[in-house]
Amino acid sequence: MLTERVQRFDLNAGCELRFAANNYSDISLELINGYAEIFGTELIANQKYVFPAKFRVAVFSWTGGTIKIIGGTESAYISSESTAMVVYLNIHATLEKLRKDREASGKDFGVTQRGPRIMLVGPTDVGKTTVSRILCNYAVRKGGTPILVDLDVGQNNISVPGTIGAMLVQKTADVVDGFERNMPLVLNFGHTSPGENLPLYETLLKGLASTMNSQIEENPAAKLGGMIINTCGWVDECGYTCILKSAAAFEVDVVVVIDHERLYNVLRRDLPDFVTVTHVPKSGGVEQRPRHIRKIARKENVHRYFYGTSSSQLYPFTFDIAFDAVKLCKIGAEPVSVLIFNYSTPVNKLPDSCLPFGMEVEDHRTKVVVLEPSPEIKNHLFAFSRSSNVDANVLTSSVWGFCVVTEIDMEKRSLTILCPQNSIPSNILVYSVVTHLDDQLRR
Ligand code: ATP
Ligand code: MN
Repeated sequence: MLTERVQRFDLNAGCELRFAANNYSDISLELINGYAEIFGTELIANQKYVFPAKFRVAVFSWTGGTIKIIGGTESAYISSESTAMVVYLNIHATLEKLRKDREASGKDFGVTQRGPRIMLVGPTDVGKTTVSRILCNYAVRKGGTPILVDLDVGQNNISVPGTIGAMLVQKTADVVDGFERNMPLVLNFGHTSPGENLPLYETLLKGLASTMNSQIEENPAAKLGGMIINTCGWVDECGYTCILKSAAAFEVDVVVVIDHERLYNVLRRDLPDFVTVTHVPKSGGVEQRPRHIRKIARKENVHRYFYGTSSSQLYPFTFDIAFDAVKLCKIGAEPVSVLIFNYSTPVNKLPDSCLPFGMEVEDHRTKVVVLEPSPEIKNHLFAFSRSSNVDANVLTSSVWGFCVVTEIDMEKRSLTILCPQNSIPSNILVYSVVTHLDDQLRR
C-alpha cells in the first residue's frame, strides 16, 4: 500500500499557505486548530476538504491556525505578505458601512435603498474573480445577500463561457466548488470575447442591468445587498470602452482597479465624479494562466455545467429532436457589402464616417436571424431562449439553459442534443460559437 504524504503547516496570523494539488491525484486538507479561510469561506475544523488534481488553493488565517494536507502538492509555501487581504477586508468594511448607511437612510423615508455596487477591473490574472468571491463571502458572513454579476464572457463563473449573468448569493462559496449556481439570470452572448460583437455586448449589459434593477424591487434584502461585478481582463482600446459602458449600465458606485496604475488614472479621468475609483495591489499568489490553460478552463466550465462536480454530480440526458420541433437562430447577420469608391468592404469594417448617410453600423450585428440546421452546428452550444418568437426579444431575453448539439442527421432531419433535462424548456435555440466535445466522463 502506498503511504500518502502528510504535511502540517503552522500559519501565523496574517499568513497564507499557497499550493497546488499535483497533476495526478486529489488532495485532502483539514484545519486542525485555530482559524483559516479559503477565498473568504471559513473552514470548519476537522472537516476534510478534497481538491481535485492541479487545483490551486490559498488558505489564509487572520489569527493563526494549523493545516494538515494529505496527498502530493506542488510549490507549497507560506507567504507572510498580508497586505492584499487587509486591503480586501477594508473594501468589504467600506461596502458594509455603505449598506448600513443606506439601510438607515432608507428607513427614515420608508423605502429600501440600493446597496453599493462595486466593479472589479484590471488586466488578466490579477485576481478579479477571486476578489469578487472574497467580497461576496464576507458580505454573506455579515448576514447580507449581495448579487454577484459576472460580465466575463471568457471565464464566466455563473454559467457557460459566452454568457454574462447575475445571481443572488445567499450562502458562502463551497471551498472546492465555488458558489452554488442558484437560479442565475443568464444572457447568451455567444462569443468568448466582447470584441467579437461590441454592439451586442453593450445591448446585453444594458439588458442585464435593467432586468436586475426591476427584480431587486421585489426583494429588499437583495436590493440592499448591492452588486459585486466581475469583469474580463481586456482593459485596452475597446476593452476600456466596455469597462466604461459596464460602469454606466450598472450605475456603479465604486470601481476597484487591481494592479494597473494607468487604468486607474484614466478611469478617474473618465468616470463621473460620484464614482469612487480605487487602486489596489494584487495578491502575490495569483497564478498567471497562459492561453491554453484558459481554453482548458473553458472546457471544464462547460463540462461542469452538464455533469456537475465530483461532490454534486449532475446527470444530463441525450435525445433526438426533429428539425421541425425547434427554431434555430443566431445573432448577427452576415455583413452587407457596400460599394464605396470602387471597392467593397464589409460594413462592419468601415468607420462610421464612411457609411452612407442614415445607415448604422451596428444594425446587422444585433439582428436575430434564422439559422438553417447544417452539419456545421455539430458540437456547438445553443441557448434555450425565454423569448417566445424569433425576433428582437431574443437579444436580451434571459435563457433557461444550454444544450450541445452532439449529432445532426440531415436525412432524418433530426438533431441529437446533450441537455440538462429530459425535454427542451423552449423551442427557440440560439447559437453560440462555443463548442464542446462531449466525452461523457464524470470527473
Ligand atoms: P482572469 O483575467 O482570467 O479573469 P482574474 O484576474 O480573475 O483572472 P483569478 O481567476 O481571480 O484572476 O485568479 C487567477 C488564479 O490565481 C486562480 O486560479 C486563483 O485560484 C489563483 N489565486 C488567486 N488568489 C490566489 C492566492 N492568494 N494564492 C494562490 N492562488 C491564488
Ligand atoms: Mn476572472
